[in-house]
Amino acid sequence: MENRLTPDWEDVRHVILYGCGNVAQACLSKIQRDFSVDYIMDKMGEQQDSWKGHQLLAPESGLARRTGQKILVMTGGRVYQEIAASLIVAGLKEYRDFCAIEYFLTWWYWTYRQENVLMELHMALTMQCTLKCANCNMFVPYYSNPVTFPLRQLKEEIKLLFQYVDYLGCLTLLGGEPFLYENLAEFLEVLKTSYRNRIGVIKIITNGTLLPDERLLTFLAAADTWVSISDYTQEVPYEKRLKELQSLLNEKAIQTTVTRMKEWRDFGFPEKPFQFATEACEAHRIACSPIFHGYNEGKIFYCHVVWSAANIGRYRLQARDCVDLHTLKREDRHEIACHCLGELAGGFVGLCQICGGCGQDNDKLVPAGRQARKNAVSSPHGITR
Ligand code: SF4
Repeated sequence: MENRLTPDWEDVRHVILYGCGNVAQACLSKIQRDFSVDYIMDKMGEQQDSWKGHQLLAPESGLARRTGQKILVMTGGRVYQEIAASLIVAGLKEYRDFCAIEYFLTWWYWTYRQENVLMELHMALTMQCTLKCANCNMFVPYYSNPVTFPLRQLKEEIKLLFQYVDYLGCLTLLGGEPFLYENLAEFLEVLKTSYRNRIGVIKIITNGTLLPDERLLTFLAAADTWVSISDYTQEVPYEKRLKELQSLLNEKAIQTTVTRMKEWRDFGFPEKPFQFATEACEAHRIACSPIFHGYNEGKIFYCHVVWSAANIGRYRLQARDCVDLHTLKREDRHEIACHCLGELAGGFVGLCQICGGCGQDNDKLVPAGRQARKNAVSSPHGITR
């Protein structure tokens, strides 16, 4: 894969950011450490003047004020494609005037700083969960014996990761349900002590059915963790519990967001797999374009779903699906970033042939959080329920 940025990007010191969502939050600390952020453009600029200490402008105003600064578009996938199209209509050129943040992190830092910078990796701690969402994109209902990784293994994997990666915008810990992981506090302590200055944001995605105990709350706060609660109360009645969790996190000033989705796209896999012709798979993968990637068992996955599909025994991993850090030579470490940008043999991961994905080409929608069946969960250590 070649660097597409025009040579004048080398001298960039001032940038304009486009977007102030989750991706912007993950990457902001790295960008503002190395560049001067002149202002941020976002639709929210119509209602508020600033975000995270930076001036916020509506896109039209931001473009009118621009005096040649490069624009970093702080999102990926389909939303990036829409923004890119609007910038091109405004007379700007991709890779000369603007580019996606993931592309910038990958190529600018590698070309001019020899740093391997990734945008976002998701890491599963346990595949045990308190819910059984029928269309879970980690296929939780299909685990007959849900794996939980020993703390020692997670510590080794993180150490291995940072032997190859200089900086990670966002490390997201998930499952299953990560608050079921009995060594979560200890793992957060490892991240905080040894790697915190190389991770922009540590995020935990929880379904909000469990309450962390006082000790875990302390570690969540100490590691400056962002707790992202997925709200499935439209399908499962746990509104009171979710509110309790929000209050606990607020009391400790732990950053918290709640996401409530009405619908998910039905991947079809594993029960009713799609069948895409090989020649259609690259376009299908691009339509899906996951903006985060997976890291488990020392392997980096362009699509984290693939790791879980293999783990439930319904899919056989292919060489193109991941980069195995156990065998990667240090001098080839930039292969990780290229893999995350979608440089894959044939243009897709093997599972794309049978997975409906999240793109607009999949019109099969299902209610978010619909349950497969009721499930009893054993009481975990350190968690009050
Ligand atoms: S379509 Fe491909 S990239 Fe998208 S979720 Fe499925 S396997 Fe992953």
